[in-house]
Amino acid sequence: MDLRVKDLLDESRIGEEIEISAWVRTKREGKSVAFLDLNDGSSLKGLQVVVDVGKKELESELERITTGASVKVRGRLEKSLGGNQSVELSAESLELIGSCPNDYPLQKKRHTVEFLREKAHLRARTNLFSAIMRVRNTMAYSVHRFFQENGFIYVNTPLITASDCEGAGAQFTVTTLDLENVPKTKDGKVDYSKDFFSKEAKLTVSGQLEGETYAMALRNIYTFGPTFRAENSNTARHLAEFWMIEPEMAFSTLEGDMEVAESFLKYIFKKVLDEREEDMAFFDSFVLKGVRENIEHVVNSPFEHMTYTEAIKILEKHNSEFEYPVKWGSDIQSEHERYLTEVIAKRPVIVTDYPKEIKAFYMKMNDDGKTVRAMDVLAPRLGEIIGGSEREWREDVLLERMKELGLDPESYWWYLELRKYGSVPHSGFGLGFERAVRYVTGVENIRDVIPYPRAVKYCEF
Ligand code: ATP
Ligand code: MN
Repeated sequence: MDLRVKDLLDESRIGEEIEISAWVRTKREGKSVAFLDLNDGSSLKGLQVVVDVGKKELESELERITTGASVKVRGRLEKSLGGNQSVELSAESLELIGSCPNDYPLQKKRHTVEFLREKAHLRARTNLFSAIMRVRNTMAYSVHRFFQENGFIYVNTPLITASDCEGAGAQFTVTTLDLENVPKTKDGKVDYSKDFFSKEAKLTVSGQLEGETYAMALRNIYTFGPTFRAENSNTARHLAEFWMIEPEMAFSTLEGDMEVAESFLKYIFKKVLDEREEDMAFFDSFVLKGVRENIEHVVNSPFEHMTYTEAIKILEKHNSEFEYPVKWGSDIQSEHERYLTEVIAKRPVIVTDYPKEIKAFYMKMNDDGKTVRAMDVLAPRLGEIIGGSEREWREDVLLERMKELGLDPESYWWYLELRKYGSVPHSGFGLGFERAVRYVTGVENIRDVIPYPRAVKYCEF
């Protein structure tokens, strides 16, 4: 494989003849020498190329090389005398591959993330976005590493579904009907029997229910794939298309679920700290002061545990400080989550046993008949990062609960059959991948941690 900039930056290849292809970040011209800063996305730091302006054959090519151009350089790698780098490439031959006119938007200066969002096809060429994408890559790889090392099977659940599963969020309809001329039934409704699937189909909001079916065969599974929500909320935390990780474990109760969630988060965060030191130092200096220490702290702290009822008792004492005062039964909102983690526990907190009214139908009922075996992992600075539960695995209790909520058992027939044929206690959770990337990098807006964000009124590129 070809050499990359990163391979040259340690001093191991000093004295060697090197050929490298990359893009020019900057060009500085002095009287007798010119300097090119080359970057190919393999590291934050670029490779300095020194060009002797006196050499005729170099000079003519150098003139055509500008910021943003792609080049191929051959030369000897030398120890650098300059203070900013340890090595430099002394050019012997220089070849312009693709020129770059001076309307190139990424000239040497700091651009705002808002500006760069409009240049999403180019923004990965900046320090900030290349660092984010390298960290995103390391996190995706470590998600697979964690589950594979622990015997989980990677399962791909469908993106198009015909069952409005848990109502986790508003769904997008998938249709090939002619919108100018929609077929209608006798009573005036859209006639989906004429549609592609002969029924109404949607993009998935969660792979959990299908994931559960595979856990009932393979024991421990995980999904990691695109998820869609027609969230009409223009926030820094919501995308219409995001990636979700959903493990599901058979023969596992809420205790096992919490154990896996904690070690999973610590594992993926630690991999970033260990393998993306340079990028984390960059985020720490230029994005969010203290973010690295914050992540280290999460990795090194045992998570605190409390029940919802205990959390409410604590929060009620501070109700005067909240925009939304709480009482038993109310949703725990962002401000409360941050209070619990930042002020009370000073580390991540796992809150369990929520009132059934504020959680999904499939969560296992406690003996009190009022609370369910749900757990949310809350993190300082962020609030909820993971939501999970032990699933209701008793057929009669599940049916009862569905009736209470007015859900039609018919449309969940296959989900209910899991409870009929060899049912077992099982549990799982969901982590929004972009939320995790945003947390680790300290980046403010979720639209900046995915290559091409899709959000309400926004679908560019
Ligand atoms: P929120 O209250 O923040 O909208 P939620 O309660 O809808 O989240 P869940 O239904 O529990 O979230 O989804 C599981 C995980 O998926 C969340 O913890 C979060 O990390 C992530 N997630 C949910 N909605 C979005 C979204 N629109 N964009 C990005 N990530 C999301
Ligand atoms: Mn939501």
